[in-house]
Amino acid sequence: MSENLAGVQTRITAATRQAGRAPGSVGLVAVSKTKPAAEIRPVLEAGQRLFGENRVQEAEGKWPELRADFPDANVHLIGPLQTNKVKQAVALFDAIETVDRPKLARALATEMQRTDRYLDCYIEINVGEEDQKAGIAPQDADEFIALCRDELKLPVKGLMCIPPAGEEPAPFFALLAKIAARNNLAEISMGMSSDFEVAIEFGATLVRVGTAIFGVRNYSPTK
Ligand SMILES: *Cc1c(COP(=O)(O)O)cnc(C)c1O
Repeated sequence: MSENLAGVQTRITAATRQAGRAPGSVGLVAVSKTKPAAEIRPVLEAGQRLFGENRVQEAEGKWPELRADFPDANVHLIGPLQTNKVKQAVALFDAIETVDRPKLARALATEMQRTDRYLDCYIEINVGEEDQKAGIAPQDADEFIALCRDELKLPVKGLMCIPPAGEEPAPFFALLAKIAARNNLAEISMGMSSDFEVAIEFGATLVRVGTAIFGVRNYSPTK
């Protein structure tokens, strides 16, 4: 796993240079969903500190013990969040990358104020306007960002997207970067194992890479 990690880091460095971007301007979110603590630990030991999980309950089961040994680890929620899990999510994660609807944004704002714990927020944009996919439609993005940032006072750091599967991702990455730029948002979370180099070319500041680091996932049948 640590060899895979080093390989991904090398590819990120090369893609960053190739894009003419500043060294170190692209962060790596190691996506550890479905992987047990025993498989995450070597990646922490190799120096990786930023991770992504897609389920609250699963993350609760493994991160407290890992954090005890690696207190500076950062964990982003990159999966859908139900409002009834907002309390747990705010207590557990360092960032929520999937703020995707007004009801959730309001629940997060209320809980962050109540606990005085402010997590970095990313607005998820449904760049491919897919019916089955979460996220704010591109044409509603500016208004929703304003709601989150100005009215609800959420610490909105940037945008996140998952482009449609099986399509050339570049136009979708370009769209996300454009929405971020016109809203003065610095962070752009896009790109996965199959396309993170393209995402870097189009301005990603965070790439979320799972399979290329941890190997293929065995989904539980309850998924
Ligand atoms: C699983 C997942 C990833 C990582 O995907 P890989 O193809 O394994 O790199 C990235 N982002 C999100 C939102 C995911 O759910």
